[in-house]
Amino acid sequence: MSPDSTTNQRNAGVPPAGVGVPRPHGISLGDFELSIFSDGIYPLDGGAFFGVVPKLMWSKKAVADERNFVAAGLNCLLIRTGKQNILVETGVGNKLSEKMIKIYGQPAKLLDNLGAGGVAPDDIDIVINTHLHFDHCGWNTVRRAGRVTATFPKAKYYVQEGEVRHGREQHIRDAVSYISDNYDPLVKSGQMELLRGDHEIVPGVSVRVFPGHTFHMQAVIVTSVGKTACYISDLIPTVAHIDLTWVMAFDLSPIETINSRQRYYAQAIPERWLTVFTHGADVPWACIEKDLAGKLVARPVV
Ligand SMILES: [Zn+2]
Repeated sequence: MSPDSTTNQRNAGVPPAGVGVPRPHGISLGDFELSIFSDGIYPLDGGAFFGVVPKLMWSKKAVADERNFVAAGLNCLLIRTGKQNILVETGVGNKLSEKMIKIYGQPAKLLDNLGAGGVAPDDIDIVINTHLHFDHCGWNTVRRAGRVTATFPKAKYYVQEGEVRHGREQHIRDAVSYISDNYDPLVKSGQMELLRGDHEIVPGVSVRVFPGHTFHMQAVIVTSVGKTACYISDLIPTVAHIDLTWVMAFDLSPIETINSRQRYYAQAIPERWLTVFTHGADVPWACIEKDLAGKLVARPVV
């Protein structure tokens, strides 16, 4: 998604009519290629998005529409290592219930955007879900002739075992966020591998658990020729959330989010990692730094 094509979308809260398929962002990281492919833009309540932060403060960084919705991106990351094509996250997908479509819409642009970038579902070797909320794993599967099957038939899928366990628990706090068709058929068929903690997926691509948003959310760390990027997922959902205490109301454990962010920054800032944001509608990635006063700032990367 290009910055110029999305600025207006953010300001309007929802995408204006006539906006075409966004162009993917692309960047080299050592020998790897990283590209953002969006599943579209969807509305999130600004109060929920920024938690205890007063609107007086967050409205300087995100524009709300008349219903108090702000536009959230659905950035999926394609990592081309030269040996594998690895897709991190699969957006909202196209299996939402009518009730959820009324709330969130159903942008469902990921396959179109991948196709426009020359990437077919068969080209994906690995899918990594950071967690199993419906807006992160929706295109894991599709419904065809009444059957739910893998969207990426040749891919091995990875997620933390604890996420599947929590999703199946259907706790009253967050049951609505877990749609079992996004993962249970893959677990059953053996196509989805359940991880227990930090793990190297392939050389240069590993996952690290950062609890807070959920109890088992994992970030994806990509390293090639001394350069590192991290798909930080909902630990830091947008560039507007980089402050340690700007934590979403959705988070199950806000204190753990803050602790996880501190642990992340302790390595990512001195080592100059590129941070990739899932829900940035117009800024999909940036380098987070401390300015001379010690304040966290985001240096844009184009
Ligand atoms: Zn999310």
